[in-house]
Amino acid sequence: MSNFVWCHGPSCHKSHTQDRIRGVKGSKVLRTKKVKQTEWNRDNFYSKFCSLGCYNDFANTYVREVIAIAPRTEPLETPIDVVKEQATNWSGNSYISTKIIAVDNNGG
Ligand SMILES: [Zn+2]
Repeated sequence: MSNFVWCHGPSCHKSHTQDRIRGVKGSKVLRTKKVKQTEWNRDNFYSKFCSLGCYNDFANTYVREVIAIAPRTEPLETPIDVVKEQATNWSGNSYISTKIIAVDNNGG
């Protein structure tokens, strides 16, 4: 059983690579590539695109539609504590180290 999807890159079939050539002499075409479905690419974008280039083509073509799924109208914030500590570097000199620590306000 072949388990694949066609690459969703809008220009996948326009890339001049030998592995896209199909058909017989006189009626050859460049065809959209198949993307094999594996455990490795399950539930990530590599299961829908043959390459990062095809993913970027899709994202740039459909950026408005993609953003409309989950628009960001306000910034998100992560509560933190900023801790300054005396530390020593590799050559034995002391310096002030700044650590950013995420704070869980939900008591978890
Ligand atoms: Zn592709």
